[in-house]
Parts: sequence; structure tokens; C-alpha cells
Amino acid sequence: MIQAKPKLVIAIDGPAGAGKSTIASRLAKTLGYVNLESGAMYRALGLKAIESNISLGDSAALLALANRSTIELEPTPAGNRVLLDRRDVSARIREQDVTDAASRVSTHPAVREWMVARQREMGAQGGVIMEGRDIGTVVFPNAEVKIFLDADSSVREGRRVTQANAQDDPARAEKLRADLRERDRRDTTRAADPLKAADDAIHIDSSSLSIEQVIARAEQIVEERIGQHSL
Ligand code: C5P
Repeated sequence: MIQAKPKLVIAIDGPAGAGKSTIASRLAKTLGYVNLESGAMYRALGLKAIESNISLGDSAALLALANRSTIELEPTPAGNRVLLDRRDVSARIREQDVTDAASRVSTHPAVREWMVARQREMGAQGGVIMEGRDIGTVVFPNAEVKIFLDADSSVREGRRVTQANAQDDPARAEKLRADLRERDRRDTTRAADPLKAADDAIHIDSSSLSIEQVIARAEQIVEERIGQHSL
């Protein structure tokens, strides 16, 4: 008898530039799962804080702002469409000022709690790949598959510079490198839900792997898990 594949929750965590988004979107296509980028939600709130002139250090004001916001992720073949109060902010939230704001708003425990509650609702039906920093540790500690995707910081920095086409602009390249280092520092040192691998996460180091090799490894991990859950 052919059994329907179970609708698992797949958590992919890791630092910026490790390749989470690329891997998550490819896996989602292969499995017919929904890919949810939790970082886009922090980015949307960061954008709203900038636009509303709210201090990125004011936890109570940021929580109040979140409570009067709707942040939606709409999976599309080209990635998540991000709606802030029904406005499409998908492109704007990738800019540097919002990237920095997202990193700052995400340090507040109250903001994180708000985000985690919404992320759990979004993944409640299963059949999702959620990527972020705390998915396997906090959002879905019972996720059936947990992958921690990492790479050497020099490799991740280099990827960011290439993505931004800044190879021939040393000043811009150094700024991008420094921003990534600072985001790493905040993510790993914050008191609330810092970036770390869940004890039961499977590690992939993408430093010297091609995208295809990382995808092959991730697919292998997922196939093994789906096999176990179909029994
Ligand atoms: O993944 P992305 O770079 O879009 O995330 C933006 C920021 O949001 C990160 O720098 C990180 O500080 C924060 N974030 C987080 N927890 C998550 C996802 C993102 O703290 N689950």
C-alpha cells in the first residue's frame, strides 16, 4: 500500500550566509512543502520600527508596535512574499538599514515571544520548512528534522560580498563583512534564544561544499527521517 508522505516540520537554523534560504527553498520544492523564512518577520518589524520612528532599543514600544501589526509570509516559487499590514515589503526588507534593524529588534525577549507564537501557528499543520536561528531550539523543539547549517565566517562573508556584487569595491565589501560579523555577534551573544544548534540537530558545514552537495546532503537527511516516520 502506498502511504502518503507524512507532513513533517523541518527546522533549518544557522548564521547569516550559511546558505539556509537556498537550501530551504530547494527542499521545499522537492518535497512540496511550504518554506517560511522567520528572519523576514523580524525584518518586517524592524522596517515598521524605522518607519514609525520607534527606538530599536525600546522593548515595550516594539512589542506594542508588533501588537498593532500584521506580518504575513506568502510562499511563492521565487521566495517568501512578505506583507506588512497588507503592504508588500519583500524587497525593502532586504536593504541594509532594515537588516540592521532586524538584528536589533530580535534581541528583545518580548519581541521574540511574539514572533515565536506566530511562527508556531504558521507551522502547526506541518509540511513546512522553517529557517531561522531558534527554530529547532525554541519554535519547534519537536521538529522531526533539524538541520544546523554553518560555514566558516570568512566563507560566509565572501558569499555576502559576492551576492551584493561588491568584489571590486573594497570599502563596501569591508562594510558588508563588518555588518555580518556584528549580526553574528548579536545573534550568538543575546540572552534570549541565542543562535545555537539544538542538541539533536544534524550539522552540515557548507564551507567547502557546492550548493548541489549541500542540497544532496539535506535531502538525504530528510529522506531518512521521512522513512522513519512512514513506518
Ligand atoms: O535570516 P535573516 O538574516 O533574514 O534574519 C534577520 C535577522 O533576524 C537576523 O540577523 C537575526 O538577528 C534575526 N532572526 C532571529 N531569529 C530567527 C530569524 C532571524 O533572531 N529565527
